[in-house]
Amino acid sequence: CGIIACLGPDRSVDRLFTGLENLEYRGYDSAGVAIQNGHGVEVHKHSGRVNELKDDDLLDKQSSLGIGHTRWSTHGPPTDENAHPHTADDGRVAVVHNGIIENYDELRTRLEANGREFTSDTDTEVIPHLIDERLDAGYELENAFRDTVQELEGSYAIAALVEDEEAIYAARKGSPLVVGLGDDSYYLASDVPAFLDYTDDVIYLEDGDVAVVTDGNLELMDVHGNSVSREVTTVDWDP
Ligand code: GLU
Repeated sequence: CGIIACLGPDRSVDRLFTGLENLEYRGYDSAGVAIQNGHGVEVHKHSGRVNELKDDDLLDKQSSLGIGHTRWSTHGPPTDENAHPHTADDGRVAVVHNGIIENYDELRTRLEANGREFTSDTDTEVIPHLIDERLDAGYELENAFRDTVQELEGSYAIAALVEDEEAIYAARKGSPLVVGLGDDSYYLASDVPAFLDYTDDVIYLEDGDVAVVTDGNLELMDVHGNSVSREVTTVDWDP
């Protein structure tokens, strides 16, 4: 199971697939991507292999922002519906997640009582709904994201994108997440090989870290929004 996110070049879809292929060694049963296509958030996902999802139409799409996932199911069988990314009701928020949300049952019950409709059996799907609920309530996106993360119990590496926002929001606790710093691009991934074709300058995030990547800028903070600083390491890996 693995996460990849990419913000930067127009050919980010290609880089997402390179990332997913380079994460295949971790094992998975489903794969998916969500990209900003200039009109909204577009999701492609299925149970099965990465290369069956990849096609020329998708690779040719102009998008400078996307997230991708390979799933190793813990909650719900490997079906197309349970594959990540997961979205909320109107599809404006897309989320990929590795790990387990221990309190998802309680969160889902509350969200459903508030009229939200779920389309998967996963623990993950509560996350886009929690973000979306806060956006509906008028929260700024960063606050909506951090506040959501504070509600989650369990282990997670998460990456999220939202319609009309040139940004990737990410957080980790108990699951790995690494930032890659390219010349004209930023990456977030479960492991360095995902983006090693594009950069070897990395920041290993720590538990409790939140990362906000916007065009040309990376901000690291804790869940309360207090800024944190992490060292940049240059990896020296044999290909
Ligand atoms: N718990 C999530 C699911 O079952 C994520 C699994 C994973 O880490 O790939 O969909």
